[in-house]
Amino acid sequence: MDNFEKFKLSKELNSALVEIGFKEPTEVQDKAIPIILQGKDIIVKSKTGTGKTGAFLIPIIQMLKASDPLSAMVIVPTRELAIQVHSVLKKLARGSGIRGVLVYGGASINVQIDRLREGVNIVIGTPGRTIDLMERGEIDVSKIKFLVLDEADMMLDLGFIDDIELIIKSMPREKQMMLFSATIPSRIYGLSQRYMKKAESLNISSDQELTVDTISHSYGISDRAHKIRTLVSYIEEYKPRKAIIFSDTKQNADYLHRVLSRLGYQAAVIHGDMRQAQRERSLMDFRQNLQFLVATNVASRGLDITGISHIINYDTPLDPFVYVHRVGRSARMGADGVAFSIVVPEEQYVIRDIENSVSIRMKPVYLDESKFDDSILGPRGSDRSDRSERRSPSGGGFRGYHSSGGRRPPSRSGGNYPQRSRGRRDYHSQH
Ligand code: AMP
Repeated sequence: MDNFEKFKLSKELNSALVEIGFKEPTEVQDKAIPIILQGKDIIVKSKTGTGKTGAFLIPIIQMLKASDPLSAMVIVPTRELAIQVHSVLKKLARGSGIRGVLVYGGASINVQIDRLREGVNIVIGTPGRTIDLMERGEIDVSKIKFLVLDEADMMLDLGFIDDIELIIKSMPREKQMMLFSATIPSRIYGLSQRYMKKAESLNISSDQELTVDTISHSYGISDRAHKIRTLVSYIEEYKPRKAIIFSDTKQNADYLHRVLSRLGYQAAVIHGDMRQAQRERSLMDFRQNLQFLVATNVASRGLDITGISHIINYDTPLDPFVYVHRVGRSARMGADGVAFSIVVPEEQYVIRDIENSVSIRMKPVYLDESKFDDSILGPRGSDRSDRSERRSPSGGGFRGYHSSGGRRPPSRSGGNYPQRSRGRRDYHSQH
């Protein structure tokens, strides 16, 4: 049996699945749903795009009743992912009476409190705001039966470990934990050993599978001062249908957005300094009809945007894992994706690093940059792509590139992200 019938789900859930258009379970759903329905803890290595949201929401909805108190919590790293999970929940829970409430920073806490007080079965939240509401007594976790940590590796990279442990420790010991993560670094195992009971592990996709088959990888070498020229020349020559352009700093993201708009391209920008409503607007516009989304890392994981033809790394990540997660975004729905990375001469080693660790070949692209008109750029210095700056965003501003030979990427465990030891705010100030 290839459809959902084998799981013996409720009538309401089956109708919701028909309505949402899920005819057959995806691989992660096929494997995870029976395990979760048996009440077992589970660690699932799978990326966004595999159907993992349904893999945890379907069994949780099946096991809950609308009359239950707050019984399930889904913790995610970013507001965008929280919104996405909540929208899937609303569709899947239709007809069941099960109610989910979304809680994340950067939006009115009072509105969220009102929604919580109206009654809730499932909370979907980012760590900081969730703890805030727990501390105010608005979220009562004493009856929690199901806890999902989604994009767990990203949460650790963002420094949420203490927050997550605090949330787990506040809950009853007897609960079912589900951990979903694109990668399973050793810190995830540590977390699972501390808090999970005989967890079953599933491996849905490896990082290799993420990129090898469907994406063609390419790069252009460009002086730091001329990266914008390379970017625009690439766009003019290859005319991407729908592309995300990644930059490492929010200043650069704004700058690229300005340049593209000035050139007449339809582009939106998303980074952590923008208000939530603006971020949602950018995503919606990009999903609907824009050609470009300029984004910092915050948008590189967990978002489900289909139909992307190109991923362009204006700043190429020095960490191959970050590269994999960024470009994995373009391989959605089996469509062939193209990744183009701009690499500065001092950091050419990164091409070999990526090729070796992900088992791919990156092809050089030689662009005719002679048509580029520098006058569209505005005042010089607005491109702030110095890596020393993005390592220490508040560290004294832009001083130009400090040549020190090829710097090595930070370790995976250290991550490219700022680490917060004891955060209370949700992550949105750096990227
Ligand atoms: P996710 O990995 O949960 O973000 O899901 C990725 C995409 O797959 C979303 O657009 C889902 O709507 C879609 N999807 C998830 N499960 C199924 C399914 N069983 N059948 C068809 N589409 C699905």
